[in-house]
Amino acid sequence: DPLVPLLDVDNLYARYGQARVLHGVSLTVLPGEVVVLLGANGAGKTTLLRAITGHVERTGSIKFVGTDITRASPATIVSLGLVQVPEGRGTFADLTVQENLRLGAYTRRVTAAALALEISEIVERYPILGERAGQRAGLLSGGEQQMLAIARALLARPRLLVLDEPSLGLAPAMTRAVFDTLRELHDEQGLSLLIVEQNADLSLGIADRAYVLEAGEIQVAGPAAAIRDDAGLRRAYLGY
Ligand code: ATP
Repeated sequence: DPLVPLLDVDNLYARYGQARVLHGVSLTVLPGEVVVLLGANGAGKTTLLRAITGHVERTGSIKFVGTDITRASPATIVSLGLVQVPEGRGTFADLTVQENLRLGAYTRRVTAAALALEISEIVERYPILGERAGQRAGLLSGGEQQMLAIARALLARPRLLVLDEPSLGLAPAMTRAVFDTLRELHDEQGLSLLIVEQNADLSLGIADRAYVLEAGEIQVAGPAAAIRDDAGLRRAYLGY
């Protein structure tokens, strides 16, 4: 059902010990949607992603494909298809590109032959990873490592792919390429995306809907195009 949310976060609170960071956040991602989460440094965006993926203390309600995952472990959450691309250069630097890709499937039961086939399909899609298959991931450029991190996450068979600042530290051309890849994954494979991003203009350009988080609360929610076209809103919350 396209109207039943894939991800349904309701009245979520999260904290690190005594430090309360999220105060009653509600957010949804519908099947096939690209949703972007914006907000200033320290607003709690990373914490919201970490709460959704099971990495921080949380209360409230988080449902994924109808399953209550509020108290689920990170591994269970990944196995349900809620997969996060690690922040920054989250690849295993000392392992080869090929080894990194194989690790993407670690939560799945898949034969070596089937996995090899999936990896060859990925490499066809992202030829640079094929050319560098035997190289240590740490030797790739920042943009190539981001592509590897995305490709590795795809091998976990995500229903929802979550990304925390995929443009971090990348040159503009590489950032563009990463966002083109994300858009392609959405358009061609119907993949749903939840993206935290500092580059508001670029991310609103590929998103269906957006949320703006401020001091742990959602201040703005709506269609990405409407937010992009609202100069007052942009100035007030997005600083441009
Ligand atoms: P940024 O864009 O800078 O990553 P953000 O919106 O992702 O910002 P968070 O990283 O979620 O924000 O941080 C929200 C608040 O939680 C900040 O005040 C931060 O200092 C605090 N915080 C983050 N991680 C921890 C931690 N491990 N322990 C205690 N406080 C933390």
